[in-house]
Amino acid sequence: AVASGPADWDGAGTTSDGHRVKVLGNVGSPADAQAAADAGAEGVGLFRTEFCYLDAPAEPSAAEQREAYAAVLAPFAGKPVIVRTLDAGADKPLAFLSFEAEPNPALGVRGVRVAFDRPGVLDRQLEAIAGAAADSGADVSVMAPMVATAAEAAWCAERVRAAGIARAGVMIEIPAAALCAKEILDAVDFVSVGTNDLAQYTFAADRQLGAVAALNDPWQPGLLRLLELVGSAAKATGKPAGVCGEAAADPLLARVLTGLGMTSLSMNAAAVRAVGASLASVTFAQCEAAARAAVAAADSTAARSAARG
Ligand code: PEP
Ligand code: MG
Repeated sequence: AVASGPADWDGAGTTSDGHRVKVLGNVGSPADAQAAADAGAEGVGLFRTEFCYLDAPAEPSAAEQREAYAAVLAPFAGKPVIVRTLDAGADKPLAFLSFEAEPNPALGVRGVRVAFDRPGVLDRQLEAIAGAAADSGADVSVMAPMVATAAEAAWCAERVRAAGIARAGVMIEIPAAALCAKEILDAVDFVSVGTNDLAQYTFAADRQLGAVAALNDPWQPGLLRLLELVGSAAKATGKPAGVCGEAAADPLLARVLTGLGMTSLSMNAAAVRAVGASLASVTFAQCEAAARAAVAAADSTAARSAARG
């Protein structure tokens, strides 16, 4: 329970009629994790492990990684935590995983693609994550970033399970992955949509460039329709699908995502209570109606007002 949250939210993500949607925190450090726990997050939907190593000149050993991850997991003993494997490259370069200069880093060897070239880096990280899970008592799942195909998803899941980690998932942040969400879910235990990159790649609009920021709007029908595909795949397979990009932090959009079939929403600590309260104030049928209306809207302005009902 949350000590000082809105009166209409007691810290468990649910619609007013009891449809469960986990409200989780995005974290990258022990301080973030404590802030998410203090805000009432039920667990962690995205632990950005690369944030631990933005300044690291050399690859940290498995033992060093284990200690760093356990410190982040500590506030979530007994709770679900999704640890993301290193998402290096483009906007988050890591010195020890640098490759030759690329003309288009966002389209280059980033995220899980680094692991295809250097699987030892992934395996050492998975060993560290499994150890940190044991040390902290957190209920740990692992997911890989920037997965494009079902075959890549299957490759990741095999390595995660070989490391003794029970649940393996992947992020959906490339449009091809959203279009193949059903086949990807068949290969893994869960997916989580990264709307920041999914928007960037869907609209061909650099997420770091102010001049094209208006296009990177998760209310755009082009993005909502990809999210609908992922939600439908989750319903068809009965497997969890979360959203861990910034879209999940928008209290009104949280209702739409719930109506589309997402089973968890993960966000910065500051958004946790408002999203929890927003979901608690509507029924699941109202979320589904908001989702149908938003997906059918002609543009993002119309989608927002349609979702308000
Ligand atoms: C995303 O792309 O939406 C995401 C959650 O990952 P990151 O912002 O770390 O790229
Ligand atoms: Mg991303």
